Amino acid sequence: MDLQLDDKLALVSGSTAGIGYAIARTLAQEGAAVIVNGRTQSAVDDAVQRIRAETRGTVHGLAADLSDANAAELAVRQFPGIEILVNNLGIFEPKPFEEIPDEDWRRFFDVNVLSGVRLARLVLPAMKRANWGRIVFISSESAVQIPSEMIHYGMTKTAQLAVSRGLAESVAGTGITVNSVLPGPTRSRGVGDFVEDLARSGGKSFEQVEAEFFEQVRPTSLIKRFASPQEVASLVAYVASPLASATTGAALRVDGGVVKSAF
Ligand code: NAD
Repeated sequence: MDLQLDDKLALVSGSTAGIGYAIARTLAQEGAAVIVNGRTQSAVDDAVQRIRAETRGTVHGLAADLSDANAAELAVRQFPGIEILVNNLGIFEPKPFEEIPDEDWRRFFDVNVLSGVRLARLVLPAMKRANWGRIVFISSESAVQIPSEMIHYGMTKTAQLAVSRGLAESVAGTGITVNSVLPGPTRSRGVGDFVEDLARSGGKSFEQVEAEFFEQVRPTSLIKRFASPQEVASLVAYVASPLASATTGAALRVDGGVVKSAF
């Protein structure tokens, strides 16, 4: 299937590693011109180089903290005419509810929600002029099944669904679509390192810790393993494509069946 992404300009926030990296690489493989973003120049240079080596698309680098308002404005000025925006960057941290101070609630909202809201607001005028655009929020299974060990993270992931649906309604009748994608447990860099540390400290293999995790912590998973970032990226690339023109206002799951619901 040709995803018809040739030369489309795409920004993927937080794309030097993990799910974001896989999305950027996949879009570039499909011929898009991709802006790879991370907070340090060295991480961005490294990711750009790796993607260029593997793909045929144009790859730009953007070293900026896109949770910062000025940085977001500068980015959109530097790259006018962004046609595909993937709001991927996000942070998580398990913490008991009583120990989460106001400051953390605000920081999680700023980084996980407001960063994407702001970027969407900045790219929307050009999308409206072109009457075409794709905005994808990378949410989480945690939007629906709020993790009691990090309620502030769950709050941000649910908020992304509200923003995404509302924004889709606000551009009804145009060629712009807005969707959210909900990954489940995915072996990104952060999760991979965490499980490897657990395995090392417990004298176990990665596979043993993974099996225990899905038995005890995520028993509703139907695939009984971590998804790969590539499995998430494949869905995002389709949603970003002109072929997905009838998919909008949707919350699309790529969670290995962890959310116990048929729809
Ligand atoms: P990750 O930590 O592996 O990678 C995140 C990337 O974003 C890194 O390159 C990091 O440097 C970058 N980043 C973080 N803050 C940034 C900022 N302010 N500006 C620019 N870059 C920034 O993360 P991941 O696991 O791939 O997660 C990506 C998204 O997927 C997040 O929104 C997360 O909530 C969501 N998600 C992840 C999982 C999972 O199991 N890994 C599950 C559900 C949802």
